[in-house]
Amino acid sequence: MLSYQHIYHAGNTADVHKHAFLSWMLARLTDKPKPLSYIETHAGRGGYQLDAAEALKTGESAAGVARMLAGFAPDHPYRQVVEATRARMGRDSYPGSPLIAAELLREDDRIHLAELHPQEHAALRGAVGRRARVHQADGFALALSICPPEPRRGVLLIDPSYEIKTDYETLPRFIAKVHRMWNVGIVMLWYPILQDAPHRPMLRALEAAGLPGALRHEVAFPPVREGHRMVGSGLFLVNAPFGAAEELARVEEMFRSLGQGGHASDQ
Ligand code: SAM
Repeated sequence: MLSYQHIYHAGNTADVHKHAFLSWMLARLTDKPKPLSYIETHAGRGGYQLDAAEALKTGESAAGVARMLAGFAPDHPYRQVVEATRARMGRDSYPGSPLIAAELLREDDRIHLAELHPQEHAALRGAVGRRARVHQADGFALALSICPPEPRRGVLLIDPSYEIKTDYETLPRFIAKVHRMWNVGIVMLWYPILQDAPHRPMLRALEAAGLPGALRHEVAFPPVREGHRMVGSGLFLVNAPFGAAEELARVEEMFRSLGQGGHASDQ
């Protein structure tokens, strides 16, 4: 039984890292008129209220979006999506990755979302409405069933909760398989950097796989409270789009200027 609920962590520093880059990438990909596919294996509930009891219990968004949003230029796609969400859903609302995609993608782009947890899945359907195909399914199986998608251009976001420890072992094989099926697809994997670094063997396997356009980016930040194990956020990309490294360097500089740590490549 899955127990992870992203509402406890929505808008935290790791979400800023992941969602800022995702927003930038989707905005850049829509510069070209050709349609896109967007697939998410672990979608969550789509939209979050940061004044909900669960979010207030951890208070994680205080060091994240609440503190960092003003550090983004007014025309940065992440800032624009967060502000558009607040205008539509209230000042304490926050867009998860499915709402970021729904906001930035166009009518003829296709969105496929998998969420296994029954309540999160029901909330996700409500959040994205008819804009996306929402599946109550295992995200890994869903992605394999639709890759290569139509349209061929596009992105697969993999954002597991890592509740199942074997995820670290299976992800490199899964990503290599997706890449064999969909060699032009951009794959974006998020992983936490925990104090005991369980992500390291996974990264070694991903880096040894020799995937094209591979790009890894990590930021370190102070634990959100004493004893909290997460001390950073990581992204691993396959077929990273043009300009990705430069954008990630800008995000990292922003983290550093806000005293949120900085590069964590040797963690
Ligand atoms: N991507 C979301 C965002 O950024 O807004 C957050 C997703 S949250 C980290 C992970 C979600 O994956 C949880 O809602 C959990 O219920 C769901 N989940 C866990 N295992 C899954 C699986 N095998 N397939 C689909 N969803 C799964």
